[in-house]
Amino acid sequence: QAATTTAASSPSSYPTSHEQVAQPVDTTNFLDNKFVPSQATQWIDLHDPATNNLVTRVPQSTDAELSAAVDSAEKAFPAWRATSLLHRQQLMFKYVALIRENWDRLAASITLEQGKTFADAKGDVLRGLQVAETACGITTQITGEVLEVAKDMETRSYREPLGVVAAICPFNFPAMIPLWTIPIATITGNTCVIKPSERDPGATMILAELAEKAGFPPGVINIIHGSAKTVDFIIDEPRIKAISFVGSNKAGEYIYTRGSANGKRVQANLGAKNHAAVLPDCNKNHALNAIAGAAFGAAGQRCMALSTLVLVGETKDWAPEIAERAKELSMNGGFEEGADLGPVISPQAKERIENIIATAEKEGATILLDGRGQKPEKYPNGNWVGPTIITNVTPEMTCYKEEIFGPVLVCLSSPSLDDAIALINANEYGNGTAIFTRSGATATRFQKEIEAGQVGINVPIPVPLPMFSFTGNKKSVAGGGANTFYGKPGVQFYTQQKTVTSFWKADDAVSTKAKVNMPTNQ
Ligand code: NAD
Repeated sequence: QAATTTAASSPSSYPTSHEQVAQPVDTTNFLDNKFVPSQATQWIDLHDPATNNLVTRVPQSTDAELSAAVDSAEKAFPAWRATSLLHRQQLMFKYVALIRENWDRLAASITLEQGKTFADAKGDVLRGLQVAETACGITTQITGEVLEVAKDMETRSYREPLGVVAAICPFNFPAMIPLWTIPIATITGNTCVIKPSERDPGATMILAELAEKAGFPPGVINIIHGSAKTVDFIIDEPRIKAISFVGSNKAGEYIYTRGSANGKRVQANLGAKNHAAVLPDCNKNHALNAIAGAAFGAAGQRCMALSTLVLVGETKDWAPEIAERAKELSMNGGFEEGADLGPVISPQAKERIENIIATAEKEGATILLDGRGQKPEKYPNGNWVGPTIITNVTPEMTCYKEEIFGPVLVCLSSPSLDDAIALINANEYGNGTAIFTRSGATATRFQKEIEAGQVGINVPIPVPLPMFSFTGNKKSVAGGGANTFYGKPGVQFYTQQKTVTSFWKADDAVSTKAKVNMPTNQ
């Protein structure tokens, strides 16, 4: 099989239904701007979560292929960093236009491989595209500083690329999260090696094809595949200078610790348990809709899903009304008209989620709405878990302590705002939180006292747009959150600061004796 320059789904033919792919095509590596078939001996079967039909096989890229990706990125780096910022900006404009043109195709790949609804998959692409669009403004984002620090002497600061950088991505946002890295890393002059999730690499493959079409030179973006072995390669390969990881705590804490010990920069966004505090004075209709949407949308498989409800005061009896709204949601194949939520990613994920629901029952919670055993008629073989609401939950229960990452909302009640804040702050995660209230004073207190890093006031999923940064906190980020994705910190992550201090009047020096004291510029 020869290398090609087009990803498996061509621009004109991409899936629009969950029908069995007639002849599944193996996923390739992307090296030197070519889709290169892998010589792998180990393959990971990728199934459509709505049907469990085989979609493709993903290689465990071989040692030679992993090294070839870094060779390619290393070789491309000197010429790429030497291109002008304006040239890279022009390529980014083209890239943005191509992503927009291929929006449906990217979303279709996500719906097929990841399971989320087509409309939601379009949002996944858009949130990544917005990072690329914002990166187009790099000319004003990367400017340095200059100060005349003494007579005839000035200091300037520059931001320089790091070299070869890598990204290790999770399954739940197959376009958005690779696009947290690709635009910022490349426009600042780095070359990159991307490892998409082995469970849904299709969108990343299309993004690579579009980068080649936009004019990115060979080697600026390379894609390798696999699981732990590929991750270990990235962590230990000395030519890779920085790692961006998004995924679970188990993998992320390991990658952060070992990557940092190897002297690399690591930014790592991890798991979550996002709480919403519901106050009696809120706009009830808005709050109930927002909560049901944010708990069950994407089948709860968003790191910013609102998975935990803290019903304050008399709102303690509102859960049945949320259940009524949840029952209205249509669980179906993601390509189906009107589908609100799709399946969960794998049979193992379904089993894990169902076990947590069963454990909650055993531990004394009430299963107010039970999504176990539900399935859409047309897709009997998918990984279905319907919207589930668990009430009478206490903090020591498993369903409260673990990130469920499924369409399950756990509800606790709290007598006061103070207690709600204390409860939320006692949780070890701190990705996001939301409050529903009409009181500015209540919201302001919540915003100040809450430890979670991303706060929504009447906003259920407060993920900042790319002119800001993704600011999770506590156990939801590695390394205390010193490095955060996109926005100004994103540009800083992918660049090394250099300062240059210069003196331009040496020819006027009159003394013939060297100055030996530390210069203080006073
Ligand atoms: P995951 O940790 O299983 O996988 C993420 C990546 O790590 C994949 O590329 C995978 O190949 C690799 N990996 C998995 N296990 C590994 C191991 N033992 N050793 C080395 N590498 C390993 O995560 P996932 O299931 O794909 O994604 C869901 C998780 O990601 C959830 O916990 C979710 O909260 C989190 N997430 C966080 C954010 C955020 O910004 N905070 C965003 C999206 C997802």
